Amino acid sequence: MNLILFGPPAAGKGTQAKKLVAERAFLQLSTGDMLRAARTSGTELGKRVAGIMDSGALVSDDIVIALIEEQLDRNPKAAGFIFDGFPRTIPQANALDAALAKRGKKVDAVIRLKVDEAGLLDRVTKRFEAEGRADDNPEAFKKRLAAYNAQTAPLLPKYAQEGKLTEIDGMASVDAVAAAISRRLDAAGKGAKT
Ligand code: AMP
Repeated sequence: MNLILFGPPAAGKGTQAKKLVAERAFLQLSTGDMLRAARTSGTELGKRVAGIMDSGALVSDDIVIALIEEQLDRNPKAAGFIFDGFPRTIPQANALDAALAKRGKKVDAVIRLKVDEAGLLDRVTKRFEAEGRADDNPEAFKKRLAAYNAQTAPLLPKYAQEGKLTEIDGMASVDAVAAAISRRLDAAGKGAKT
């Protein structure tokens, strides 16, 4: 079972992905985490993407697609992948379909965490105070939200058309969101279509 956790920045995708990793034998593939790790270890890639990330813009499709392909190759026996923060553009979504097909896999479900912008701003302000991520500052966050609306939200019709999309209220508590995701995954395990 390969799952995309979909939603704007700060919707709770990372939190939910980590819960799924703890509860099911899934692997979380977060391109944001991979890029932050590259920055922390001071690699060429890390240096190249630092300014773009801090501004709130998206890094190039080629970079993140290569990161995902590398992880798919490294984990051929994984029970399932949770894609968190990827894909974020139509070319990324098409590349993911192709990369999975090449390995005899596919995207099985897309779970969209629906959130309201005022609630998000509140969450991000708290996260900025707690973690100090440069791209959580209000200016950068607005740009990340704009990038989501312009480049990522247009993927929703594709996944809806494919019958893979489930929408969940992302403003509910962490546990309630997790329970709703679990119900969706259990239904899929029993062969239900949605
Ligand atoms: P995130 O933690 O997923 O919000 O990612 C933080 C930042 O990393 C984003 O604002 C982008 O600059 C970059 N990034 C992460 N994932 C992607 C992606 N799939 N495509 C392009 N840029 C990404």
